[in-house]
Amino acid sequence: MKKEIGLYVHVPFCVRKCAYCDFASFAGREQDEEKYVDAVLREAETRALPDAAVATLYIGGGTPSLLPPALMDRLLSGLRKTFDFAPGAECSCECNPGTVTPGFLSVLRANGINRLSFGAQASQARLLSLLGRIHTWAQVRESVAMARQAGFQNINLDLMLGLPTQTADDLRETLSEALALSPTHLSCYGLIVEEGTKMHRMVTSGAWVLPEEEEERDMYELCRETLFRHGFEQYEISNFALPGSACRHNADCWKRKEYIGLGSAACGFLGNIRYQNPPDLSDYLNGKPAEETVISPGEARFESMMLGLRMTEGVSDASFTAAHGVSIREAFGERLDKPLRQGLIEWADGFLRLTRKGMDMQNSVLVELME
Ligand code: SF4
Repeated sequence: MKKEIGLYVHVPFCVRKCAYCDFASFAGREQDEEKYVDAVLREAETRALPDAAVATLYIGGGTPSLLPPALMDRLLSGLRKTFDFAPGAECSCECNPGTVTPGFLSVLRANGINRLSFGAQASQARLLSLLGRIHTWAQVRESVAMARQAGFQNINLDLMLGLPTQTADDLRETLSEALALSPTHLSCYGLIVEEGTKMHRMVTSGAWVLPEEEEERDMYELCRETLFRHGFEQYEISNFALPGSACRHNADCWKRKEYIGLGSAACGFLGNIRYQNPPDLSDYLNGKPAEETVISPGEARFESMMLGLRMTEGVSDASFTAAHGVSIREAFGERLDKPLRQGLIEWADGFLRLTRKGMDMQNSVLVELME
């Protein structure tokens, strides 16, 4: 039987740069789209593994829904030719509201995409404009309706919290608007102010004011309570799903399963190697090779904790032992004691997991676990 791996494909094109974005994405490079798809398919041929089947595919970006339908068709059908897909593979595509068309969605369906993720963010025009998003909430509604019309049932909406001027009432309204669209999955991300972004300039100059830490924590609690009331389960710090609808691709990354990444800036992880393709689009198109890093056994053990503790179930001691040849206690010894004593982590049914308090202090826990 073939081993199962993940496959990530980065599509770096965007209409314009959002105020908070430090992802490898580029506005005004549509002329490179065709060349790019061809380069990704060439890379796919060099990275395909004969003994592996793709269990999850994730087309992310950037804005994958900006690719013209014919190019998306070329990309997806090329991937299907190059890789074996496991039966029932989860295949996701990120879309920006307002950029999808029935033609684009039918290309996705025809090529086995069975999960969509929309960057919805907030239902207030004021916040969407502050974020520099190109869409309105009316377009979120239209795009989701179009997706349902095309036959998609498994739909995620990304939402943001902790935004300048955002209030608990704004978030309450956004959650209610989002739930009215009956998504199966909601990702609720706290804003991270990255250096080099407009958001960073506006916040550091004092022009935009972030909510206090306490207010942001309350917003996070509001997300949790609201979504629990509507039948969602939290399976990761920022991710909530109806039973059976957790994103397998992301969960597999947090469980440190192997995946191939294709495209500019894409990362991959196979055996004890992590690689990253050049983040710059021109470098990637010009064939600059990926940077590879060999992961030592100690780094691999730490990675398992860093990634696995993001999940509410935590890190399975049995899986950890199978992967690393030592148990969590043998690997981390006394370094576990302080966060256990402080009530930041706990053992539950063979898993080591963050407590609710630990979720707010994940970085402190990781600092304790470092050698
Ligand atoms: S759509 Fe996404 S990737 Fe593109 S600029 Fe905005 S945040 Fe960045």
